[in-house]
Amino acid sequence: MHTIVIAGGGAGGLELATRLGDSLGRNGRARIILIDRSPTHFWKPLLHTVASGKRDPLMHEVAYSAQAAEHGFQFVCGEVLSVDRTRRTVSIGPFRSDDGQEILPARSLRYDKLVLAFGAVTNFFNISGAAEHAMTLDSVWQAELFRKRFLANCMHASSRRLAGASEGTIVNIVIVGGGATGVELAAELSHTVRTLAKYNVHTLDPDHDVRVSIVERGELLLPHLNPRLSRRAARYLRSLGVEVCTSTTVARVDADAVLDTNGTRHAADITLWAAGVEGPAVCTTLGLPMNRIRQIIVNAALQTPDDDSVYAIGDCSNYICPVKGAAVPPRAQVAHQQAMYLAEVLAKQPGTRSPDFQYRDYGSLVSLGPFAAVGSLLGAAPGREMLVGGVTARVLYALMYQKHVMALHGFIRMAAQTVVHWLRSKVSPSVKLH
Ligand SMILES: Cc1cc2nc3c(=O)[nH]c(=O)nc-3n(C[C@H](O)[C@H](O)[C@H](O)COP(=O)(O)OP(=O)(O)OC[C@H]3O[C@@H](n4cnc5c(N)ncnc54)[C@H](O)[C@@H]3O)c2cc1C
Repeated sequence: MHTIVIAGGGAGGLELATRLGDSLGRNGRARIILIDRSPTHFWKPLLHTVASGKRDPLMHEVAYSAQAAEHGFQFVCGEVLSVDRTRRTVSIGPFRSDDGQEILPARSLRYDKLVLAFGAVTNFFNISGAAEHAMTLDSVWQAELFRKRFLANCMHASSRRLAGASEGTIVNIVIVGGGATGVELAAELSHTVRTLAKYNVHTLDPDHDVRVSIVERGELLLPHLNPRLSRRAARYLRSLGVEVCTSTTVARVDADAVLDTNGTRHAADITLWAAGVEGPAVCTTLGLPMNRIRQIIVNAALQTPDDDSVYAIGDCSNYICPVKGAAVPPRAQVAHQQAMYLAEVLAKQPGTRSPDFQYRDYGSLVSLGPFAAVGSLLGAAPGREMLVGGVTARVLYALMYQKHVMALHGFIRMAAQTVVHWLRSKVSPSVKLH
């Protein structure tokens, strides 16, 4: 049977597997196989809420096996290590338990069509000490690690203060990168600190004893947004007590500080690196053309130019939008549109001509904590941009996730889940306390 293998079950890959499973897999027209190194899916744009303790990942993850059973595709758990394009096989490493025991052996899978949807990883731009000392937000595991370290630092500083110590009583968090990830995390953290104080998890003064700073190389935060919105976001963050250091380039990261090129030392108990992404290392094993940040180059059909049986979507791909003359950004919106496009193209009979992929930019929204967001909406009128902020933008931002849930489970289940999460938020603390 014709076999379509999708490598990576993130924002793009899981939506694609679900659609193709429904259209081809269920009725036996093709075998759809999704491979992911994790047994569960979590929507990446929400990782900052896991890092701040606002969201319990267990309540929002999707078990790939359950999704596969419901939507007519097959799920294979394991890390894709390499692809042999001559023999059309994908090599998958063994799947191990947390204590290192091998649960599933190394395997290889044959494909007729392969869709690469590996996402991206943090790019440290070879800054000295960054990879060794900075934390990242590439996975649920890393977000949870950040949350636990943040909590431990607050509790430790609080106990030293109670013991009358003069040093180690302030918590310094430095976020490198003033894009959406850095801004969203900084805003959430300032709310988390206050909530933790309310529950006496620490006795620090949220306004003075926990210092969150953003270090950004450019003149403005959120460079992809209208400058008015960038300034508005910076003002809002400052009102929450976040220190915003723009036009500041990081030269080195130490275990306890970030040093900038002006020689200023930013004390850091935790450094979080959110300054850019690159394709994962596995992209280099494919022998396919890549750009300088290891993203696989694709044409207007999202196929790799050297091998029309291999496609790439989402953050691991490099597609130049002919209208803008620039690469589409690494965003969930792009991964979603590319998944929907391929779901239609791959469901057609072989040999049927398909239109080119066309990216439509609907704008961008950035959360500023539980009560605000900023963003711009495009597409209402050609060439016009509508700037939004405050609660309206926050509601629109929340709808982005609902749209993803709806793509996976349909409207009724999305609505039911939303009600369950809302009820849960009424009976439990608004952040994780332990
Ligand atoms: C904190 C944060 C906030 C964000 N906010 C927004 C936002 O507000 N709006 C927006 O549009 N975008 C946002 N993004 C970006 C968005 O998350 C990504 O653009 C989107 O998730 C890309 O989708 P993808 O399918 O390409 O990859 P991902 O969603 O990253 O999925 C990749 C999948 O591949 C799997 N994988 C990777 N390597 C392998 C391997 N070798 N073998 C097997 N499986 C593998 C991973 O486990 C993962 O499941 C944000 C990102 C972050 C980190």
